[in-house]
Amino acid sequence: MSFVSHLECSRTGACIPHDAFHTISDAGAPLLVRYDLDAIKTALTKEKLAGRSPDMWRYLELLPLAGPEDIISLGEQITPLIALKRMRDELGGGEILVKDEGRLPTGSFKSRGLAVAVSMAKAFGVEHIAMPTAGNAGAALAAYCARAGIKSTVFCPDDAPEITIREIAFHGAQTYLVNGLINHCGQIVAAGTAETGWLDLSTLKEPYRIEGKKTMGLELAEQLGWTLPDVIFYPTGGGTGLIGMWKAFEELGALGWLDGKRPRMVAVQSTRCGPLVKAFDDGHDEVMEPWEPADTLIHGVRVPKPFGDRLCLKVMRESGGFGTMVDDDEVVEARASLAREEGVHLSIEGAACFVAYRQELESGRVERTDRAVLFNCASGLKADLPSATSRIDRNKPLDFSELA
Ligand SMILES: *Cc1c(COP(=O)(O)O)cnc(C)c1O
Repeated sequence: MSFVSHLECSRTGACIPHDAFHTISDAGAPLLVRYDLDAIKTALTKEKLAGRSPDMWRYLELLPLAGPEDIISLGEQITPLIALKRMRDELGGGEILVKDEGRLPTGSFKSRGLAVAVSMAKAFGVEHIAMPTAGNAGAALAAYCARAGIKSTVFCPDDAPEITIREIAFHGAQTYLVNGLINHCGQIVAAGTAETGWLDLSTLKEPYRIEGKKTMGLELAEQLGWTLPDVIFYPTGGGTGLIGMWKAFEELGALGWLDGKRPRMVAVQSTRCGPLVKAFDDGHDEVMEPWEPADTLIHGVRVPKPFGDRLCLKVMRESGGFGTMVDDDEVVEARASLAREEGVHLSIEGAACFVAYRQELESGRVERTDRAVLFNCASGLKADLPSATSRIDRNKPLDFSELA
């Protein structure tokens, strides 16, 4: 038995029973999972939690699964917080902590959301799932579906990173490259639903991926001794993580587990695709029109009009946060210098958070005393690296004064 009380339409607040796998609400908006938090308060204590295994399933009462027997897992460990000490000294700001999500199964934090969504789909007897993806979500979907024995079909923009496309196919998903953007891929998935009967697992078009992403917020709070940082930088594409973490903080708040204030949530996007930042700055409640052309190298944020735009903007406002766009070239440079100077290899999206932090420290929107958490959402090894080509002929004498 889970502690879920019902599903709720994020637009109208309408209640929907959680007895079947629902996708979106009648109003066409994302659904949110609601829990009997009073019952959880009685059932779960911080002390009880402390003794559990170090993975995302330790928060089972705050997840929609009926019980541990429904868990489909590939080993989702707690991800570390890594301090960027040199950068802190250099910039003269507060503590900078990177939450390194690149260590999760399939090398990105998409595994958190997909582990929960696929577990739920399996429990409801779903046999076939389809998804549009820029890459990492598809890789996680394909892996968890393989684990669960569910058929998966994935549609990617044809300029998505090659390694991830191969990874998706390698896990056995039917993988198709589409000459368009992620929203075009989404249209194909939606159009095929009636004919194929597949479940559409597009971002926020079902309620359970948010619950998996929510564990980032639960985990962060627990790691920091049930306090939260002053500000969180999150590379925002569809926005599941932004929405999920804020939901985590709300639920922990309701349980009475949080000391102090909530963090300001900063949506990091690119100057080459920044629809949420623009909508926020223009004072809108939604993205008015898709961003064009969306040609950023920061693939994770390349979503011209997120389906959860209203929820993302609400989190940015309610938290006292904001949105900020970064320059792609600056991100590429920062990623390289962090690898050299800190030994920390970030994904391009993770490096985007660092650039965003740096520019907002300078702008004054982030205080010099603020403790910041930056999300590194994927392994750096998923992205291209510059070539290294210095060769040695072992048959010739070596001049070590030149070599070292
Ligand atoms: C999916 C993804 C994002 C965006 O995450 P959302 O929660 O969908 O906004 C950012 N970075 C990487 C590497 C991703 O795979």
